[in-house]
Amino acid sequence: MNDILRPITADGYIGYDKFNQLQAVRFENGSMISWIIANPLEEICPICDRGWDLNHTSIKDQHYWHDRKELTHESCFKRYLKLREWSMFFNAVVECNLAFPGGLKEVKNEYGAAWNLPWYEFTWKGAETFTIVIGRRKRVDHVEIKAPTESYPGLPSLDYRMAEKCFSEEDVTKDFGPTSVMVHAHTDEKLKAYLKKFVRILGLEKPAEKIAE
Ligand SMILES: [Zn+2]
Repeated sequence: MNDILRPITADGYIGYDKFNQLQAVRFENGSMISWIIANPLEEICPICDRGWDLNHTSIKDQHYWHDRKELTHESCFKRYLKLREWSMFFNAVVECNLAFPGGLKEVKNEYGAAWNLPWYEFTWKGAETFTIVIGRRKRVDHVEIKAPTESYPGLPSLDYRMAEKCFSEEDVTKDFGPTSVMVHAHTDEKLKAYLKKFVRILGLEKPAEKIAE
């Protein structure tokens, strides 16, 4: 049964119930799901600077941005979160002062979160054998050096013993082996610090930085 008494969209999927609350409905596997929804028709999304249209697809595309206490399009908010995270990762890599000519390549999220933001891979110039993976888990960032699973003569190997030493002080989830060095970073600052340790593990430190230590 549909509780909508006064539809506001032509298809009847959005409308007011007997308590004068705006409801939205959708159908899933033959059953109707309804929920209370904000009326965004007088609002402007702070991200795209546009409002909402009078149809159920547009009206359902909403997210309450608690910090700003205003509505945004859910689709806009997802794009914002994705770009904000990309920007944080990108700056963390830039701070390592090494070229990564391919940029950050978007890859599948290996963890899976509420909004399933992508993970990223990149390669530092001078250590092309190794792939660096950065990605968000629920409350931490997964940071990993991946080495090829098969080794060939002349191919540099991953110095995971050195990695163990570099991260011995860090009381976090970590995993070291010949094909992978993985740590969880609990803050953006830690992510930056761990990437700098990766630079050292891969032997990419610039001479000046070695002297400075
Ligand atoms: Zn928007």
